[in-house]
Amino acid sequence: MSLVNVKNVSKKYGSQYALKNLTLSLEEKGQYAIVGASGSGKSTLLYLLGGLDKPDVGEIEVDGLNLGQLSDGEMANYRNTKVGFIFQFHFLLPSINCLKNILLPAEIGVHKIGPVKKQALELAEHLGITQCLKKFPYQLSGGEQQRVNIVRALSLRPQILLCDEPTGNLDSENSVKVTALLQKLAKEFDSTLAVVTHDHSVANRFKQKFVLKDGQLVDGQQSLDVATPPPPPEN
Ligand code: ADP
Ligand code: MG
Repeated sequence: MSLVNVKNVSKKYGSQYALKNLTLSLEEKGQYAIVGASGSGKSTLLYLLGGLDKPDVGEIEVDGLNLGQLSDGEMANYRNTKVGFIFQFHFLLPSINCLKNILLPAEIGVHKIGPVKKQALELAEHLGITQCLKKFPYQLSGGEQQRVNIVRALSLRPQILLCDEPTGNLDSENSVKVTALLQKLAKEFDSTLAVVTHDHSVANRFKQKFVLKDGQLVDGQQSLDVATPPPPPEN
């Protein structure tokens, strides 16, 4: 069943289209890579899906909610209750420790802290960062900060997990490890996963790919089967 339906969505910045008449859908619990050159609209798509911005034209429906029709308050509630975000650069607040960073979205939202904290502690242990929780972000390595980020995004058990170049500052081996972990956790949590990446080894872990070019899907292609060999070179 489709969880997310993007219908004829366009988004412009000035006279420039970031997304142009885009139509796609994401299945419930599906896992997707979103690929394309820099400037092709990947982040814009992710921000619209996550309710950080609204399309100029077209509709985005998530689990029956039409995002374009939500008030600012409803949109904030949507982000807080349904969406987990992981960005390339870890938006951890420097002045509070990592556990407080992790619990912040729950504290500003409608969640009960107890179960979220329990979930966060379990996840942190699972990811091997329990000893990091009382530290401040600057005391952690990049990899540890990324794990804190993952715990923060997942401890609210989001229905949709949106990741924008989550492994952009990791080497190839660690990129694959973090991606595998995101895929495993999304599966465990029944979350739909969308990962923006320019790293082929990351993209190739996904059966379903959206390829964007100039704000449009390449060939209207929804899902590329990565097992399909590339066509022979033209002479
Ligand atoms: P990608 O993530 O694939 O690199 P983006 O979605 O960030 O692409 O950007 C798509 C296009 O929209 C680019 O041409 C970019 O310059 C433009 N763009 C994105 N965000 C803004 C913004 N806030 N203001 C102006 N132009 C923007
Ligand atoms: Mg981007």
